[in-house]
Amino acid sequence: MHPFTLERPRDLVAALAFGAQAGRNDAPAEYIVGGTDMVQLLQEYVRQPERLVSLAGLLDDRIEAGSQGLRLGAAATMADVAAHPAVVERYPLIAQALLNSASPQVRNQATMGGNLLQRTRCPYFRDVGYTACNKRAPGSGCSAIGGDNRWHAVLGTSEACIAANPSDLAVALVALEAAVEVRGGGRQRVVPLLEFHRLPGTTPHVETVLEPGEVITAITVPASPLARRSHYLKVRDRASFEFAVVSAAVALEMDGGRIRQARIALGGVATKPWRLPRVETALAGASLDPAALRAAAALAAEGARGRGHNDFKIELMQRAIMRAVETAGGRA
Ligand SMILES: Cc1cc2nc3c(=O)[nH]c(=O)nc-3n(C[C@H](O)[C@H](O)[C@H](O)COP(=O)(O)OP(=O)(O)OC[C@H]3O[C@@H](n4cnc5c(N)ncnc54)[C@H](O)[C@@H]3O)c2cc1C
Ligand code: SF4
Repeated sequence: MHPFTLERPRDLVAALAFGAQAGRNDAPAEYIVGGTDMVQLLQEYVRQPERLVSLAGLLDDRIEAGSQGLRLGAAATMADVAAHPAVVERYPLIAQALLNSASPQVRNQATMGGNLLQRTRCPYFRDVGYTACNKRAPGSGCSAIGGDNRWHAVLGTSEACIAANPSDLAVALVALEAAVEVRGGGRQRVVPLLEFHRLPGTTPHVETVLEPGEVITAITVPASPLARRSHYLKVRDRASFEFAVVSAAVALEMDGGRIRQARIALGGVATKPWRLPRVETALAGASLDPAALRAAAALAAEGARGRGHNDFKIELMQRAIMRAVETAGGRA
């Protein structure tokens, strides 16, 4: 581990002041909260900050559910959110996505804000033995394109990076049209989650629209008739403690046997949490008939590009959508 200074500010204002100060090479200070992702990256020399600023104990960890929707403090843990009665009853998609993530030990420690900002599981990014990784070392190339890319994205990729976003929570939240409350630089703002993560383009090291020093303070999810009737389907190589090969988040409003409205997002297959508006439009008014679901799910493949080992994801993600819609639609 590279040596660094750990700052433990007494409040968020002091933390933001530390976060705004540039260090050596103009690099801003970096934050740590639960540490479940950051510590791994420090141990493997993937991240070598000069200074870490701990936000532990400084951020809101409340979970509030009201008639307007749900508000999750950035420091609420994955375990607490997944077990909250209002989340389980009114936003089952969120509870399911969280319970299908990581392990009980990690969920007890890991926070909402950290989950949205966790780094990719691309093995080349996480192993500094591979020199070519544009996300870790801008301009160095990409070891996954032309390398072993079974885990990588088929949607939203670029010639610079094909890394998949690893967050299950973000996929559920994008389907439910969540937003992120952000603070820093003397202002507060709200960013729709769909616009929070950036496509890699030519700058895959810039992953979100957060400005240096800004922190996530909360996540908000609007109340919606779709949220109760939802399902998170995660396809993975083993039944627990594993990231998604493909995941589908589905929320439906039914009108008898027909779908009135649908919200669909995919994980494991895209460089950011991937909403599917064209599939949603095709599902509106459709029955749960397999042929109708197949035709709608096929629209998810528009623009998809495999790189060899991950070609199978293009078919698998369509099947995941069909299965998740059938499950959500069949639920009373
Ligand atoms: C073994 C293992 C298995 C896992 N499996 C899954 C899985 O299946 N699905 C899944 O979705 N995730 C999985 N994860 C990832 C896990 O969910 C994240 O590591 C965790 O949510 C990060 O939260 P944290 O509070 O520990 O963040 P930290 O590790 O403290 O921070 C992570 C990043 O977020 C930044 N950050 C954190 N909070 C804020 C904030 N409020 N404002 C600004 N920046 C912030 C930090 O600066 C850092 O860059 C797994 C992790 C492990 C270790
Ligand atoms: S896919 Fe992205 S993260 Fe992985 S090696 Fe290529 S540039 Fe790095």
